[in-house]
Amino acid sequence: MQRNDKFLNSILNSITDHIVVIDKNGYIQFVNESWAEFGDNNACLVKNNWDGINYLEQCDKAAASGDNYGIVASIGIRNVIAQKDPVFYFEYPCHSPAEKRWFMMRVTPFEVDNEHFFVISHQNITERKLAEEKIKQLAQLDGLTNIANRRTFDKYLLEEWRRCCRLHKPISLALIDLDYFKLLNDTYGHQTGDECLRNIALLLKDFAKRPNDICARYGGEEFVLVWGDTNSQAAKSLSERLLHAVSELKIPNEESPISKFLTISIGLATLTPEKNSEEGELISCADKRLYKAKDKGRNRIEF
Ligand code: GH3
Ligand code: MG
Ligand code: MG
Repeated sequence: MQRNDKFLNSILNSITDHIVVIDKNGYIQFVNESWAEFGDNNACLVKNNWDGINYLEQCDKAAASGDNYGIVASIGIRNVIAQKDPVFYFEYPCHSPAEKRWFMMRVTPFEVDNEHFFVISHQNITERKLAEEKIKQLAQLDGLTNIANRRTFDKYLLEEWRRCCRLHKPISLALIDLDYFKLLNDTYGHQTGDECLRNIALLLKDFAKRPNDICARYGGEEFVLVWGDTNSQAAKSLSERLLHAVSELKIPNEESPISKFLTISIGLATLTPEKNSEEGELISCADKRLYKAKDKGRNRIEF
């Protein structure tokens, strides 16, 4: 077969990446069919009538209308044209009302008869991005209870501590430990124990509804609640409601020496962060109080 223009055109049109070629001034020289089709369905790209259209101007227009990705693309393409960079890679979101989408833009130069041209290709990387989002989300959650894990909690507490420090607001933290949980496992089996942990986590979500709240699994059968911008009085009242709500779940723990149903102990601490203070103070204060609650007979709040 003869390797003529028609043959090469067919190759370019069979490629699913959207391809546009510009000259050194930004004027469009070629688009493949994928580009034209995508442009037809989307406002973000130049449509079929590309003759005389300047791609850089399109990017500038997008940038002027507040599109930050337009600015990055425009600078990146210009740097390749000016030979400051050999190539340019750029991942950007281009969500449509119907679906989330991401693209990878690549800009590479080539030369024909001493004239410089630039291939700009857009590859749909949505599948990879969605998988990355999912992995990121999974890494933040505890596998059993589906609430925040310890790592997420540590990160969150530090941010919230700093935020409350800036605003001179109090922050409250409740450490929650299930009472005689080993007996519950021993009596009903580990699976029932797991189910119980999931139910407690579900309940805790109801106590972390505001934007500055978080509930997390702290470890084993211990949970933690952080209430940002919340004083000790409000935190105490929330903790009392939580103690009551757990008893209302009536989760059987008949071997427990203090109740036929599962109970919890809470160590509660409230601090207004000061400069050079550390969030660890809040945890260790709540921890000491939790031990005290256990010492005093469990099923109670120490504050
Ligand atoms: P206390 O009132 O002093 O807190 O008594 P406790 O029995 O709750 O405390 P202890 O620390 O002796 O036991 C905690 C138990 O929690 C033991 C452990 O097997 C159980 N546990 C920790 N993680 C899990 C889990 O993921 N699933 C189940 N089913 N049990 C767990
Ligand atoms: Mg414990
Ligand atoms: Mg316990």
